[in-house]
Amino acid sequence: MLERENIQGVIPRDPENNIESFHGLYEIMERSHERLTTNEWEFCTCPSCQQSFYQKAKTPVGSCNSIECAGRYEFLQQPRRRLNVSVEDITEAINSTFAESGFHTLQPVNIKNSNGSTIFIGNAGQIFDRQIFREESINPNPSLIYQPAIRLQSQDKVGTTDGFATSFVNVATEQLEANEAQHVEILDKWMDFLSGIGLYLGDFTLKPKLEKTTWGAKDGIETYTLKFNYKGLEIGVSNYTTIPQKTRPEISQSDTAFGLERILWAINKNSRYYEVVGPLTNALRNEDVLMDAYRTTTLMAASGVHPGTDEQGSKLRNIAHKYGTLDHDFKPDIVKYYYKWWSGFTQLPLEANHTAQILRAEADRMCNTQVKRILHDRGLSRSHSDKKTLSTDLFASGLSSNQIDALREELSNE
Ligand SMILES: [Zn+2]
Repeated sequence: MLERENIQGVIPRDPENNIESFHGLYEIMERSHERLTTNEWEFCTCPSCQQSFYQKAKTPVGSCNSIECAGRYEFLQQPRRRLNVSVEDITEAINSTFAESGFHTLQPVNIKNSNGSTIFIGNAGQIFDRQIFREESINPNPSLIYQPAIRLQSQDKVGTTDGFATSFVNVATEQLEANEAQHVEILDKWMDFLSGIGLYLGDFTLKPKLEKTTWGAKDGIETYTLKFNYKGLEIGVSNYTTIPQKTRPEISQSDTAFGLERILWAINKNSRYYEVVGPLTNALRNEDVLMDAYRTTTLMAASGVHPGTDEQGSKLRNIAHKYGTLDHDFKPDIVKYYYKWWSGFTQLPLEANHTAQILRAEADRMCNTQVKRILHDRGLSRSHSDKKTLSTDLFASGLSSNQIDALREELSNE
């Protein structure tokens, strides 16, 4: 075990961290520092946020390259590629990087999480929730996984900050009980992959962080993270985590995970993230919020989440409000488009048509509620209204033609 004096030069600068309490992470810090500096990364302090970062000594970036410090997505200043790299090209490159080194591909888990600490699966590492939380037996082999993930905490950023989404594919290598040397080897492989697909390592910064976290009711978890910032865009993280157990000694988890769509964006440099996520016609109309809502609710419904009042169903319902309005005609084609994307990575329990039916029924229900509210607010009770007067009132009311049509239909159903 390393001594405090020896680790001093490689501690990520962060006034909140008391290094004494991260004794269990000394070795991983030291080993990754050694590997990175051997590969001509230098350890610096960001003049803007005062935090530590690594950059390639030959091509200094000058800041930690986070969006806060870079101020913008610098990579979008570079010319777009002539030929688009497809998601198939990327998955092929990832698969060949890791399959050849003995990584097993694991099937992702259903996003309806029932084992761990979150309502939905938010990252690939949760595939081991049963081993971590229930202390089931561990297979220490390294694995590769493409995990559809849902992170609702990004919801406010969708539509205001480009590059954010409430659902994405988290592509990751995972290994329980990996030792420090193995974790550093995995980090190296990811670097090989990144430069192999044309992302120049000199354009990256790696930002280290020490963190104590709580997963659900589980605490005492410590992580050493290296964040991969690519010219302003965070595209992945490499985590080495130690997790206390009740019935056995503490275990470790090597988890290096990237946003697949963000990798695609970084490579292709489309002017906007949602052009990568598609469909292009909607992206060109700046319909990010709608697209994100369709995309995430498609994943939820196809995975078996039913709109309702329970914990998961109410989240679906909340997001479906973005398209479940009288101003918007429900678009089953977008549901099918995203269904196809998700089913490329996971076995969805519901069929595409069934998924679209569920979401359409939910959108219709919301529209009906809206119609009733409008009628009520305007004192137009269904049974007493004279339809001709109603029509005039409606046209004078500033409602959209869609809303008026829906009200008419509602009244004609009497
Ligand atoms: Zn900074």
